[in-house]
Formats: sequence, structure tokens, C-alpha cells
Amino acid sequence: MELPEELTKVIQLTKEQNTWRRTETINLIASENVMSPLAEAVYMSDFMSRYAEGKPYKRFYQGTKYVDEIESLAIELMNEVTPAKNSDLRPISGTIANAAVFRILANPGDKALIAPVQAGSHVSHTKFGTLGALGIQHIEMPFDKENINVDVDKAIKMIEEVKPKFVVLGGSLYLFPHPTKELAPHVHAVGAKLVYDAAHVYGLIVGKAWSNPLDEGADVMTTSTHKTFPGPQGGSILSNDDELFKEISRTIFPWFVSNHHLHRLPATAVTLIEMKYFGKDYASQITKNAKKLAEALAERGFKVVGEHLGYTKSHQVAVNVRELGGGAKIAKLLEEANIIVNKNLLPCDTPETVSNPSGLRIGVQEMTRYGMREDEMDEIAELMKKVAIDGKDPKEVRKEVIELRKRFLEVKYTFNVDLSSYSSKSIPMII
Ligand SMILES: *Cc1c(COP(=O)(O)O)cnc(C)c1O
Repeated sequence: MELPEELTKVIQLTKEQNTWRRTETINLIASENVMSPLAEAVYMSDFMSRYAEGKPYKRFYQGTKYVDEIESLAIELMNEVTPAKNSDLRPISGTIANAAVFRILANPGDKALIAPVQAGSHVSHTKFGTLGALGIQHIEMPFDKENINVDVDKAIKMIEEVKPKFVVLGGSLYLFPHPTKELAPHVHAVGAKLVYDAAHVYGLIVGKAWSNPLDEGADVMTTSTHKTFPGPQGGSILSNDDELFKEISRTIFPWFVSNHHLHRLPATAVTLIEMKYFGKDYASQITKNAKKLAEALAERGFKVVGEHLGYTKSHQVAVNVRELGGGAKIAKLLEEANIIVNKNLLPCDTPETVSNPSGLRIGVQEMTRYGMREDEMDEIAELMKKVAIDGKDPKEVRKEVIELRKRFLEVKYTFNVDLSSYSSKSIPMII
């Protein structure tokens, strides 16, 4: 039978996606990353077709002996490299990890304190997202715009007055570490728990470029496994508190996941091993690149957020492009030039400007994984200037972007493995 037109279309779209985002764009979305070919190879495995409800060695179905082993191994590796006493990899995303934790820590009607939305809280921390779905009230902690961080003294007062069930730190626009050790004793003094959402910075934590919140008083840490930690899309919950962990872990299945997408497990395990051996170098290069990109943009006339604080300590750079036409317009123009960033609210914005905020959020973790260093950050800043400040035709700039990208097509910070030696029937990516 001749291939149906719609089938050709699906294959074509997949190929186009792969060619565009893997070989022609400078990817600067702060929440994205790529797996190594090795992790992708184990991701495309029979695990992707199976079920394993329950926990390792305590399943509801047969056929899971290798799932049990791989899940136990991934948990051990995660405990080792974080480090943490307990990890649960079953949440299929960071949002699901948050849902499982929030549900255990509070009941409908209870209160949770979060960082303000325009200061970087993730939607899952808010009444508009997961917290709201669980019927928990969100109250925003006071924010110090000068320090681009939660206002410690005022937050402590609020914790004492409101007596929330839990406080959430960590965010999606996240330049400087939230005051975990400063707030932890005050959170505990009112009988509340401190949740640290490390979705963005987990790779930096593993690579020792960011402090481990579990060492600084956080009771539980949630994360995604695909932002600065360059694994498959997924989530995880980690804690040093055995009792609390047990309680949360007991409800992930059946409350929030049935199947936990088992092909994530070997791919996450591979990434954990990569981070065990290369994570320090990777994380340190990420933070150097972010700082360098911020400086290079500022030198070229961009209004980069946080100059007086050294711009950033994370993988992110935030730029205020209000005077250049706003985040929506500039992000779109950059996309035409194959530079992929997202528009973002900045602390100076009101939440209402969400569709045309002042900011761009830029993350360097993916291009760092492809081997880019400080010199390339300079090149990227120059290309962004051409589009956003000089008003050059983005289609012209695109040619230079593609040229730059073509020099960085191989994932670094991984092992050299001849995949063909393991397989006569590897599943090829359509590229
Ligand atoms: C990305 C993000 C999440 C959600 O992760 P998903 O895997 O996309 O559900 C949670 N919290 C923060 C702070 C994030 O930035």
C-alpha cells in the first residue's frame, strides 16, 4: 500500500523538528536540555511499553524483574549524587512531584507561602495551578526587588503570623538562591514544612554549583529531571526525613501516577552516572557561561537584570527588553533568527502583563552541554544585538546562527560509547 499522506506528514514533521532544533537553532529556553545519545538509546527500549504499578519488588503485575532492578539502581544513584537519603522517581513530571508533596502537607483550605508569581514562582505553586487544584491557598511572601529575592525579615514575620502548613522556595525565573537556611528554622518553629522546588537547578546541585537545600533545612525537595539536569522529561521527590518521605511515597501511586513511564528509568540512570563523573565540570561551565552571557549582553547595551549582584548565580540570565518593544516582540524576532528564548515576567512587572512582559529569560545549560564556552556566549550576545538592538533582518542573522550552531552538534559531558557495538537493531532517530 502506498503510504497515506498523513503518515508522510508525521514523519516529515518529526524530521523537520529534529533538524531545526537539533542542528540549526541556538536553544536558550531555561527549562530545556538534551539527553546524550547513550541516554536516548536506552530510552528507546522495551521499558517504554510496560507497566510496573507500585514500588520495586512490590508490583501489581508480573514481568517487572528488570524494571525492579533498574528503578532500584536509579534510586541509589540519585541518592548518591544528590546526595539524599531517599528518592522517588515515579512522578512523571515536576508538577506531579509537587502535587504529591503538597497534597500530603496540606488539606483543602490550608495555607501555603510561596515566592511572588512575577518573581519566579512556578505555576504549580499557585492558586492558578496545582496548589489551586488541591484547594490550598497561596499567599505570596514579600519580595525585595533590590536583592531580587524573598525579603527574609518580612517573610519571617509572615511565617509567624500566617502559620502556613508549608513554604515553597525555588522557582522558574531563578537567578539567585532563595534563603533556605535563613527561613528553615522559622518555618519549623511554627510546625510547618519547607519544600524546595529544585526543578531548574537540580543539575547545578548535583554538580555542586548550587547548595543542596536538603543540607540547609529543606524537609523535602521536588525536581524535574530535564532542565539543568540533562535527563529525560520527568520528576522526582527527595528527602532526608524518612517518615515524611514514606508518607509521600505511599501516595504517589495510586493518587498521582499509575504507570510511571518506565523508559525514563534507564535514561535517568545513565544521566545520573554522567552527572556523577562529569557533573562538576558541566555545572561549573554552565554558571560561568551564564555570567559571561549576561556581561556580554550588558556590554552591548542590553538591560540585564541584577547588575549590582553580578547578574546571576544560576544557568539563567534575565533581560529587560521593555524599551526594545517588550518580551513578546523580541522573543518572536529572535525566533525568526533561530535563537530560541522565552518571554518572561520580571519582578518589576505586574502579573497582568503575562502575555507581554518586560523580560526575556535565557538559559545556557543546553548549549553548554553541546560544548559552548565563554567565547560562544560572546558570539550569541552579538547575534542577539544584531536582531534586537541593531534591527537587522532576522532572516539574515539566521544564517550566522546556523553557522555557529553547526560547530556544536555533539553532546559533551558523557561517555564515548560505540552504540552499534551493543545493537544490531538500534532504533534510529529520524534526523
Ligand atoms: C519546570 C518547573 C516545574 C514543573 O516541571 P514539569 O516537569 O514541567 O511539570 C516545577 N517547578 C518549577 C520551579 C519549574 O520551573
